[in-house]
Amino acid sequence: MRTLVVDHPLVAHKLTTLRDERTDSPTFRRLADELVTLLAYEATREVSTEPVEVQTPVSKATGCRLTRPLPLVVPILRAGLGMLDGMTRLMPTAEVGFLGMVRDESSLIASTYANRLPDDLTGREVFVLDPMLATGGTLVATIQLLVDRGAAKITAICLLAAPEGIAVVDEAFRDDAGCPITAVVAGVDERLNDKGYIVPGLGDAGDRLYGVV
Ligand code: URA
Repeated sequence: MRTLVVDHPLVAHKLTTLRDERTDSPTFRRLADELVTLLAYEATREVSTEPVEVQTPVSKATGCRLTRPLPLVVPILRAGLGMLDGMTRLMPTAEVGFLGMVRDESSLIASTYANRLPDDLTGREVFVLDPMLATGGTLVATIQLLVDRGAAKITAICLLAAPEGIAVVDEAFRDDAGCPITAVVAGVDERLNDKGYIVPGLGDAGDRLYGVV
């Protein structure tokens, strides 16, 4: 997996406020949304386009448009939902699928509880939204599902990653993954703690976005 850490002062500024435990949910949601748009700008840098000709009021011009089939955006429920608007603001014609993954807090193993994705992803570029690449279990399970359905390219957009999680994804797809895989992140932190939280991290992203349920 190629990991791209977006090095930009506005990304660092917003991430720092997200980390701050004093940041309330409405502010956290707004900043996460803005941060995702900045990450999405980098994550879509190599999105597939095709040439197209348009008529301007003056003459013909050659430009480009997203190739068909259109990219698919997949927020991982629940915390990934907080990243959806920030992503679709930049790429409004993308289609959206949903995947619900929950991790068992003692074993840290991820399992699927909701799946609303096309059966056939042949030729499609998929953008996975999950704020925290922590143990890597959720991302490995998600990537495997997308590869099995024929995805042509997978880009995970995460606010934060732990080195351990990146290593787990690397190891899982070390030999031919079936398609190129990239993670675009605002930062890679020090480590995971014994509860699988990223240190220093920002806490439970779902709780910070939506409150404790
Ligand atoms: N999920 C979170 O929301 N936060 C972490 O630190 C790790 C996993």
